[in-house]
Amino acid sequence: MTNFLLTKSRAGRFANLLYTTIYPSKCLFCRRVLDGAELYCSNCQATTADMEHYTEHVGWLYAPFAYESEVAGVVHRFKYGGARALAKPMAQAICTHFPDIYGDFLVPVPLHPNRLRQRGFNQAAHLAMELSEILNLPVFDGLERLRETAKQFDLAREQRMTNLAGAMGIKTGFDVAEKHILLVDDIFTTGATANDCARALLEAGAKQVDMIAFARA
Ligand SMILES: [Zn+2]
Repeated sequence: MTNFLLTKSRAGRFANLLYTTIYPSKCLFCRRVLDGAELYCSNCQATTADMEHYTEHVGWLYAPFAYESEVAGVVHRFKYGGARALAKPMAQAICTHFPDIYGDFLVPVPLHPNRLRQRGFNQAAHLAMELSEILNLPVFDGLERLRETAKQFDLAREQRMTNLAGAMGIKTGFDVAEKHILLVDDIFTTGATANDCARALLEAGAKQVDMIAFARA
């Protein structure tokens, strides 16, 4: 299982140190300077949601913020704007909203290798590594995309499910038997990706699969 263990690189640790030194107390969303140790300002009381029971294969969904305005801005800066250090306050915001998240370990939703090459990093893995430090759980990179799927945004809702069905698989030797797994991604959209990951994990013997995401669309 150690084959699949994800740990932060030294570069990642340095980025975090820089972030906390340079931006000790700015609102996560609008970047206004804050007085206290809160994560975001009173103007940015982002729409939050309770944990939900998602049907089909995903158990609990822990996704505190609605994917709109400032929340979408944070995700874009994190994913496309090079602000990888945002993973830390994003993880803190999730765990502050849901203090009772539990499971055996974290598994990031994988990017297809081609997209990983384009983007240079898997945002879900970065978020998972920050959650790992707060929840004190290991992160295992045990899922893989078996084929490249069309970009979900380009498809009609009903096409999205068929686009993704069967796209995820378990890496050889990744042992999930009887485990309670916490899937991690930056956004939860239709749930098709999460559902397909959960299906693969449950078929491989996992006991339960919940989903953690920063935002829900
Ligand atoms: Zn703000």
